Amino acid sequence: MKLSNSYAELPDHFYAPVQTDPSPSPRLLAWNGPLASQLGLDELAQDRERLAAIFGGNQPLPGGRTIALAYAGHQFGNFVPQLGDGRAALLAEAISPGDGQRYDIQLKGSGQTPFSRNGDGKSPLGPVIREYLVSEAMHRLGVPTTRSLAAVATGEAVFRDRMEPGGLLTRVASSHIRVGTFELFAARHDNAALRTLVDYAIQRHYPDSATEAHPVGSFYAAVVDAQARLVAHWMAVGFIHGVMNTDNCAISGETLDYGPCAFLDTFHIGKVFSSIDHQGRYAYGRQAEMAHWNLARLAECLMLIDGERQEYEARLDQFQASFEDHYFQLMSRKLGLTQPNGEDRELVTDWLQQLQDNQLDYTRSFRQLASRLAADDTPCFGEFEARWLQRIDRQPGGREKAAALMAAANPLFIPRNHQVERIIRAAYAGDLSPFHELHQVLSAPFDEHPGLEHYAEPPAENEQVLATFC
Ligand code: AMP
Ligand code: MG
Ligand code: MG
Repeated sequence: MKLSNSYAELPDHFYAPVQTDPSPSPRLLAWNGPLASQLGLDELAQDRERLAAIFGGNQPLPGGRTIALAYAGHQFGNFVPQLGDGRAALLAEAISPGDGQRYDIQLKGSGQTPFSRNGDGKSPLGPVIREYLVSEAMHRLGVPTTRSLAAVATGEAVFRDRMEPGGLLTRVASSHIRVGTFELFAARHDNAALRTLVDYAIQRHYPDSATEAHPVGSFYAAVVDAQARLVAHWMAVGFIHGVMNTDNCAISGETLDYGPCAFLDTFHIGKVFSSIDHQGRYAYGRQAEMAHWNLARLAECLMLIDGERQEYEARLDQFQASFEDHYFQLMSRKLGLTQPNGEDRELVTDWLQQLQDNQLDYTRSFRQLASRLAADDTPCFGEFEARWLQRIDRQPGGREKAAALMAAANPLFIPRNHQVERIIRAAYAGDLSPFHELHQVLSAPFDEHPGLEHYAEPPAENEQVLATFC
């Protein structure tokens, strides 16, 4: 087990040392064994009581240094000069024995820090369960994301609109550096800190940039591409992040912060679930535009220390094309196209129009479309279906190749809102078996799970979740 904390070696004003609040009676609800192995933490896993103590905040992680990270950010378009980890603590960094990569191990919900403002620094168990399920599902769906190592029930009550059981999530990220971290120092005209941060971020995430003629510009271009790729994945799986503030925009290109996020059931480009997103700023179909907006904020920070505005504008201009390339690549696979070309973009658009006009379930419709490859009765998807089949029949490998591709690209299971909420209600009532069932199907979301098929069902009318909360 190789733990350290390189971020704690950065200048003092990058973070604050903190102590996590102990949990009165920590209970380990979920432990991610495969992820623990990947991080080289197997020796910890021998003792579940010790795991509950460490990931319940009662014992430090040996070799780590517990700190809360400082950052700022634009929230719904408005700049907030000081945010920071108000309910989270970075325990340590682990170097993966497999790939040699460095990963943050962070507790979320571990009590107040100097950045808590009026918050209690805690988390109810509901959001812990939600993030554990959704982040791990995203990983299995092939979407870049932070992971979840552990979920602990603290045994303490947390007050929100009512009393709720408290929880702690252990989040693993390739770092927690955000656009908002750069904004913190830019707003203070602290160019020395900006320089230190960019050097650290290059070394940790984009080491190839270090040897380029313009390392900072090259770093920026890499972040632009990572965000374009990320949002393309979100769009392809039907994910709505919900709070794409710059403080939730990780420069690693991983999905960060599972708050009021949701997956689409019926397809609608303008779909919003978040109860706090009154203007629809972070609607499903606006996510690329919003990532672009966040990246413009990052450029404004970087140009304080290196390069000209026009250079950053030119790099940012690459975002849209990069996003579209990634997106159409993913969508082509979902439609069974082995050798997509430019004309296929229209096919993708027509398909989405078909889904939206008929209020069809996004995830399920791809599987239904795939089943049309082996059918010869009345079409299910109107005139689109004939055009699509003709296109498939023209490609090498024909329907057989398409069927294999579509089975690998289109999940049967996603963490649907109504299921996640039902599972949280059951957990609050003391029953964790639905949590384990959903976790099981989401661990292999492309496979059949006999007896658990109901987790693939879209919500009935009376089960529909209309709004999600942080
Ligand atoms: P988020 O909406 O999770 O991205 O959080 C935005 C900011 O609010 C971050 O600085 C968080 O640390 C802070 N925050 C959210 N919830 C709490 C809480 N319960 N206690 C203290 N700070 C919080
Ligand atoms: Mg400090
Ligand atoms: Mg956040």
